[in-house]
Formats: sequence, C-alpha cells, structure tokens
Amino acid sequence: MSASAQIGVTGLAVMGRNLARNFARNGYTVAVHNRTAAKTRALVEEFGHEGEFVGAETAEDFVAALERPRRLVVMVKAGEPTDAVIKEFAPLLEPGDMIVDGGNAHFADTRRRERELREQGIHFVGTGVSGGEEGALNGPSIMPGGSKESYEALGPMLEKISAKAADGSPCTAHIGPDGAGHFVKMVHNGIEYADMQLIAEAYQLLRDVAGYSPAEIADIFRTWNTGRLDSYLIEITAEVLAHVDAATGEPFVDVVQDQAEQKGTGRWTVQIALDLGVPVSGIAEAVFARAVSGHKDLRDASRGLAGPKAQPLGKEEASAFADQVEQALYASKIVSYTQGFHEIAAGSDAYDWNVDLGQVASIWRGGCIIRAAFLDRIRAAYDARADLPSLLADEGFAREIGEAQDDWRAVLVAATLQGVPAPGFAAALAYYDALRADRLPAALTQGQRDYFGAHTYRRTDREGSFHTLWGGDR
Ligand code: NAP
Repeated sequence: MSASAQIGVTGLAVMGRNLARNFARNGYTVAVHNRTAAKTRALVEEFGHEGEFVGAETAEDFVAALERPRRLVVMVKAGEPTDAVIKEFAPLLEPGDMIVDGGNAHFADTRRRERELREQGIHFVGTGVSGGEEGALNGPSIMPGGSKESYEALGPMLEKISAKAADGSPCTAHIGPDGAGHFVKMVHNGIEYADMQLIAEAYQLLRDVAGYSPAEIADIFRTWNTGRLDSYLIEITAEVLAHVDAATGEPFVDVVQDQAEQKGTGRWTVQIALDLGVPVSGIAEAVFARAVSGHKDLRDASRGLAGPKAQPLGKEEASAFADQVEQALYASKIVSYTQGFHEIAAGSDAYDWNVDLGQVASIWRGGCIIRAAFLDRIRAAYDARADLPSLLADEGFAREIGEAQDDWRAVLVAATLQGVPAPGFAAALAYYDALRADRLPAALTQGQRDYFGAHTYRRTDREGSFHTLWGGDR
C-alpha cells in the first residue's frame, strides 16, 4: 500500500465515521480502519463519492497508507479500548508520528499515555471533540492537547474541519500540553450538565408555578433565544417541548420517563474539582439532580411526604414570573461558567498548562453543545483582563448579575413556597452570596476545629497560628 493519506481514522462508529467524512469533504485523503472490517467497507461503499478514502483492513495496511509524519486519529470507546488500540498501533509507528485520541478520555489517562508514548518519540495528542455526530460531520469544536510541535503538523487540518464562529474564526486551538485538551473538554461537559439542569429547572417552574403548558413554554424559550440566552441548548429545548408524541398525541416531554442518565464526564468534573478544592456547586447539583431522578425506589418511597399547598399564579402574574425566571436562569448561568472557568484555571495552574481562558471561550462559540452568544462575552472579559480572578469580577457580568438578583431571589422564594426543587438556581445564588459576603461563618468552623482537634486558627488582628485552651475536662 502506498503512503497517500494525510490522515487516518480508526474506530468507525458514529463519531469516527463522521469525522473521517469531514476530513474527506475538506479535500484530505483519509485512511480508514475499524476493528470490525465490515464497517470500513461500508463507509467506503456508502460515502466513497464524498472524497478520497483508503480502506484498510489490517493495522499494518492502515499505518502503511499514511504519509509521514503519520497522523492517526483514534475514535474508539474511551478507556481500555483506547489502550488496546495504542498497544496495537504504537509498535508500527516511528518517532515524530502522532496518535490523536478524540475519545472522551479522562485527562489523567491522557497524561499517562502521553508520557509513555513520548519515550518512543511518538506525539500523543489527547483531543476533546464536542458537537455529537452532527458536529463531527459538519464541524465540531476541537480541543487538542499535546506538544506544540504536534499542533504545528495537525492544527491546520483541525482548523479546516472545525466549526467556525460567527466572525469566521475556527473553533479549535492548541489548549496546552499532555492532558489539557481532555481536561477542558471534561469541564465543557460539566458546564453542559449545569446549563441543561438550569434550563430544566426553568421549565419546571414555568410549568408548576406559572401553570404554562409545554407548548407555551416552547414559545417562551423561543423568545428567550432571541435575547441574551441565545444558544443551541435553548433552541433545542424549545423544539423538544413543542414536540408532540405521535403515538399518544400527548406532549413528548410527558411520555418520557423522568430519569436522567449520564456517561461520566459531569461526574469527573466534580470529582476533579473536589481534588483541586474548586467550588463547582452548580455543576455538582446538576450531576446530583440526575442521580436523584434515577433513584426510582427512593422517590417512590417518598411520594407521600408533606409539601405546601400549590397556589397557581394568575395569567398576568405568570407572565411577570416568566420574566423573573429568565433573570434567574441568566444569573445562574453566569455562575456555572464562573465555576467552570475557575476549574480550568486551577487545572492549568496545577499541571502547568498555561491555558488561555479567553481562547477556550472563543473555540466554544461554535460546533459544541454549549455554543452560545454568551461565550463572546466571556472571551471579551478575558481579552480585557487575561488574569481575571473570576468572571464575577468582570464589570459587565457583575452589573448584570446585580440587576438580576432581586428576581433571582423572588424565583427561589416562589420555588420554595410552592415546593418545586430548584437546586441549580439555589446553589448558584448561595455561591454568589458567599463570594460577596464580608464575613463567612467559616470563622465559627475554625473555632469548632480548634476546640475539638486543636487544629489552630488565624486571627484577624495578628499574624500567626493560635490555639485556645478550651475549658472543661476533655
Ligand atoms: P463508541 O460506541 O464509543 O465506540 C465504538 C467504536 O469503538 C467502534 O468502532 C468499536 O469497534 C471500537 N472499539 C470498541 N472496543 C474496541 C477495542 N477493544 N479495540 C478496537 N476498537 C474498539 O463510538 P462513538 O459514539 O462513535 O464514540 C467514539 C468516541 O468519541 C468515544 O470515546 C466517545 O466517548 C467519544 N465522543 C462521542 C460523542 C458522541 O456524541 N457519541 C461525542 C464526543 C465524543 P467495533 O466496530 O469493532 O466494535
């Protein structure tokens, strides 16, 4: 087999197949390979007319088809399959070649793989890819980590196949060394969980407190989508809510079981935040809300517990309440992104990645699930001040959240009085109030720790560590 392909993709399920087609449609010759060769043949047969594909049935043929330095994209199930594929291909590669892992790998695995392959002179490029199968085909947001050198060889191709933001710039950039790309993709998914949870809470409040129907709520979301909440997730929420189940004629949302599933990247975001000591309470509530929904036995056993008497709002009140919910949703969204970007900054510091936060916001503007006009604002905030300690320290966001806070509080009062859970809104407001407080009760916590464990405390009026000799026989 002659080396004629500029890039190769192994793993031809939905993501790999569409990514391979995207490369081919952009004029690259693409070698394709899959463990089960029938999928390789099917791709070439079905989509061969879209561009130049070289179908390879064996690992040896696949590697031989690639121009040097070889660029080999792995799109297999994350975890052990990725290690199995690396084990199969690495011995066939030469120094300078690149293995690009586009799966949803844990960044710690990516760091390990990068270290091991570096010893062999192979660049391991852990790459976050967001946008689902449609994004993979028409332009995803791509978050490559790995060496700068690998980005020089790979970047122009990724820039070509990636989504483009409204200003035409590609939704990809070198994120940083080793696991930086997969770390940023992980936090992207954590923010996605939070965005989805906040939207879900807004829906439930509009339904259970304001008394709107799913179709009416779809219209409200459509209106919101023309304003500052303009985003892919709000857009598809309106479509899901407007959808009527063909079999029953009922709103689609009423015939779907209310138990949310998850694959793990949201959970990782929270686990890593705990390790780094970063408060991502909004993202955590989103992960926990899915867990609560999934505990059917627990929910069944709690069905008879007392709640408040619901008092539905009148028509005019409902419309005013909907405006307040928009404020609460927007303010809570600012907090989720504040927390997510804090986690990226903390990861970047811990692993010495030097991630450019403004650039991350920039490449999330198109292609990915959380794409939104809002990301332009975040980029502008970091452009104005690269060392911004928190998005809440940005003048524009601080002003907006300040303007929203009365309505945000009113929505949470209504939710509490009517017994509608709004953990995402509540966690976001608690975070906001904690950050702006002059004094936190942590002083008391420190006193307790010193009392029972002699853990010492620091004083407000003097330097040093202090311990009080607490009275009584202890
Ligand atoms: P998937 O269902 O996660 O994985 C199926 C692919 O993995 C098949 O090509 C399969 O080959 C291959 N595979 C599994 N075990 C293998 C092994 N031990 N050795 C070699 N190949 C093996 O596919 P996907 O949904 O297209 O996702 C691919 C990757 O992209 C995953 O890491 C996923 O997390 C990530 N991702 C997915 C999405 C999405 O929206 N689906 C979005 C972003 C990222 P066979 O055909 O031989 O079984």
